[in-house]
Amino acid sequence: MFLNRTQLIRLMRIPKKYGQSQITRCPFCAKQAVTKNIQEIPVCIEHKNEKLNELKCACGSWLEMKQGKFGIFFNCIKCGNINFNRVIEMNDIAISAKKKSVPREITVNASELDFL
Ligand SMILES: [Zn+2]
Ligand SMILES: [Zn+2]
Repeated sequence: MFLNRTQLIRLMRIPKKYGQSQITRCPFCAKQAVTKNIQEIPVCIEHKNEKLNELKCACGSWLEMKQGKFGIFFNCIKCGNINFNRVIEMNDIAISAKKKSVPREITVNASELDFL
């Protein structure tokens, strides 16, 4: 089967994928997400059982979590749909979780050194 001219042009216009930009981070620790929690949010193995609290948009409205074709996204009544990573960034979830878990006695093992 041969493609006609329009079909060929359409094929050529398919945008390239950028490998690095597709990595999803765990919202609790910022490590690479490898699984999903019960809310279908991408998380690392350690935070598989953690639940994400309700999140706020930059405008101050509560966000509604939605399941789309390409994964989780959020919807703000004022701003519309917002990408998952953007919301995590806005809410500083990964960073606040890190601060909370600082131990009194600092014992650093090899895997933690990698992360620092
Ligand atoms: Zn995690
Ligand atoms: Zn908003």
